[in-house]
Amino acid sequence: MSDLINREHQVLFQTYKRLPIEIDHASGAKIWDRNGNEYLDFLAGIAVNALGHSHPKIIEAAQKQISQYMHVSNYFYQEPQILLAEKLTQLTGYTRVFFTNSGTEATDGAIKLVRKYSFGRGKKTIVAFSGGFHGRTYGALSIMDKPKYKENMGPFLPDTLVLKFNDIKELERNINDETAAVFLEFIQGEGGIVSPTQQFVDKLEELRNKYNFLLVADEIQCGAGRTGKFFGFEHFGVSPDIVTMAKGIGGGLPLGAILAKDFLADVWDRGNHGTTYGGNAVACATGLVVVEELFNGVMDNALNIGEYLKNKLFQLQEHFPNMIVEVRGHGLMLGLLLSFDAQLLVDELLKNMVISNAASGNVLRIVPPLTITKDEAELFLTKLHLSLVNLENKINLQ
Ligand SMILES: *Cc1c(COP(=O)(O)O)cnc(C)c1O
Repeated sequence: MSDLINREHQVLFQTYKRLPIEIDHASGAKIWDRNGNEYLDFLAGIAVNALGHSHPKIIEAAQKQISQYMHVSNYFYQEPQILLAEKLTQLTGYTRVFFTNSGTEATDGAIKLVRKYSFGRGKKTIVAFSGGFHGRTYGALSIMDKPKYKENMGPFLPDTLVLKFNDIKELERNINDETAAVFLEFIQGEGGIVSPTQQFVDKLEELRNKYNFLLVADEIQCGAGRTGKFFGFEHFGVSPDIVTMAKGIGGGLPLGAILAKDFLADVWDRGNHGTTYGGNAVACATGLVVVEELFNGVMDNALNIGEYLKNKLFQLQEHFPNMIVEVRGHGLMLGLLLSFDAQLLVDELLKNMVISNAASGNVLRIVPPLTITKDEAELFLTKLHLSLVNLENKINLQ
């Protein structure tokens, strides 16, 4: 065992299954380890590094803000927060922003916003779906179903309901006048790049008209340009009332956000909600760079390269029909449903110097920086092909 791995095992809670790589530095879509090995990064810090690693404009914005001030607390008016919130509201049509440090904090904040809005309206139940991932704090866990995240850690929030994803009958049976909100990832990330069917979305919209619940889109992974549009839900023709963001929005610094429509602007009074670090000036400064760059060509790149990559993946599926069951996703949030444990492919890709990730057991999750070039996409495809050939010889597919 090498030095860092050994030391990590002595002092940190063993909660993470880490790749056996000791990081030295990273740039663009490349990561170098402490032995000088170069990897192609198709994980991007779990869909965080939208502009890749060490983007010069991110570094410049961070350095400039750090030299001005890093943290003063939300007792003060800070231009970086306001600039980013102005940009987000102008571009999205949402009119109110609350900045957080992370995704789960955005989820829990959104739950509080829903609860406070619903109080006195006879609505209490918060509905979410199987396979969804909303974070690790208690609010988020309460609207998730995977036992591994929750085992022996209850009790969780009451008046929550996790319905079977994409099951229209379940929707009809469980949504009613008491439904306060429905939380939904329009493209499930941890769940394995799975989307609702259009019929499911249409039924949800029909019930929303009838029962007037709030629709909350968890855009923490599929938002911030990841799918070639700023929000993942734009692929489905809906207009959620509340949107949660994190991951990509900070450009690598911890930043999340809750966006809400105007009718929710006055739900929270002063002191009702808060955070010490949320909306940190440096994170907001880099966040502004992310949003500017996204609308300055990066989102188009994600759409174009994503389409190119997806077509090539379909071709690869024809080559390996007994290994690749399905090609999924939008933009640069793609998934390969495999007929075997995706970790085998992740390990094989890593031998070929490509960093990738397994989601939901048998899905290879492909979430590179949104700035990748066609050459980098080609390199990935070559290595993926090679890895599938190698695996085909190793594993026994019936
Ligand atoms: C990662 C993720 C979260 C949680 O974000 P954290 O920053 O890890 O708290 C919530 N929802 C979705 C869809 C995510 O992908």
